[in-house]
Amino acid sequence: MRKQIAAANWKMNNTLEEGTKLLNEIVGADIQLSDNQFAIFAVPFPYLIIADQQVGDKSNMFIAAQNCHNKMAGAYTGEVSVDMLASIHIHYCVVGHSERREYFLETNQQLAEKVDRCLEKGITPIFCCGEPLAIREAGTQNDYVSVQLNESLFHLDAEAIQKVVIAYEPIWAIGTGKTATATQAQEMHAHIRSVLSNQFGEGVAANISILYGGSVKGANAKEIFSQPDVDGGLVGGASLISSEFVQIINALK
Ligand code: PEP
Repeated sequence: MRKQIAAANWKMNNTLEEGTKLLNEIVGADIQLSDNQFAIFAVPFPYLIIADQQVGDKSNMFIAAQNCHNKMAGAYTGEVSVDMLASIHIHYCVVGHSERREYFLETNQQLAEKVDRCLEKGITPIFCCGEPLAIREAGTQNDYVSVQLNESLFHLDAEAIQKVVIAYEPIWAIGTGKTATATQAQEMHAHIRSVLSNQFGEGVAANISILYGGSVKGANAKEIFSQPDVDGGLVGGASLISSEFVQIINALK
């Protein structure tokens, strides 16, 4: 059975004091996660160790990095490697968020390398894909996302791809308050699963968690997560408000 995941992406928000308070409120809230349900918190690098301690051995709650470098080590000032993440027991890493693609010009090829580095160190990449508004308006979003998957993930074998979590995040819905409808989300998730199925086989595709991201809130999470190919969400803005994120976690089906 594939995992259902509510993943928080704090981005470049929260001081240590604010982040500690937020995480404490969520960890201490009344949340019932079943065996295949997970809450993941992608916090800024400086907070990884302390956040991991806060989550402690709370079952099915994990801390994630928001990014990693595509090389394992070397002269890359200011960067963080998966080797470093693994050494502090971080098990998840967001890869290829649209903000990294847009502002830091990350390419599908570099992201393929980041996925490989993560898997080499036993870290689950949360691989983001999704189209900009112009592509959605042109109606070519399926092809656009297929190319992202093809160029960053299709070098993997059937075993490795099942260790990847995919997050579909239409760029026009990120931080805009404009959510894809549940139907739009389902259509794209079904497309992604069929592309995975063609490449890796139906059984493999059925095992891969595909999260939706783009203005998910407490109020709309249940409807979006109830779609058959939506296995949870990657959440920015609403993950910064404890009551909202608790509601989102509790909306996992
Ligand atoms: C995100 O940052 O991945 C995201 C989906 O942001 P928001 O929920 O704010 O749209």
